[in-house]
Amino acid sequence: MNDSRTTGDRRLGGKCLCGAISYAVADEFRYAANCHCSDCRRATGPAFKPFAGIESHKLRITGGADRMMIFGDESNHDARCSLCGSLLYSTVRDGAFVHIAMGTLVDDPTIRPSEHIFVGSKAPWFTITDDLPQYDRHVVPAGPSSAQE
Ligand SMILES: [Zn+2]
Ligand SMILES: [Zn+2]
Repeated sequence: MNDSRTTGDRRLGGKCLCGAISYAVADEFRYAANCHCSDCRRATGPAFKPFAGIESHKLRITGGADRMMIFGDESNHDARCSLCGSLLYSTVRDGAFVHIAMGTLVDDPTIRPSEHIFVGSKAPWFTITDDLPQYDRHVVPAGPSSAQE
């Protein structure tokens, strides 16, 4: 009778490479995209970063919070494991949202990246071969939460 999958509050687990830090996030992402900006490439290493955006309060660090390494300021930063260096998420939009690095999810989210963004800064050695729309910027979709901005 307490099946969370039917009540809409399914939670997803995630963790860093070494396992020191783990988190739980609601399976309620507002958007997901593959970001080709040069910052995301340098922060992660690959040609682009798949990320999923959600309100910050729907993310909870469930283990190893004392191991967290912050790069940036208090309300806009990348959060990494200080031991293995994994980028777990970025806090954005003045702290209102987090962008989960989807590669750190353990569970399969409902959402899928629906677009390529910042393709103007795409790595020249990488060719996008799927049919997802491509944009030069990230346009955050309007939604119930957009009125809070
Ligand atoms: Zn780690
Ligand atoms: Zn980016």
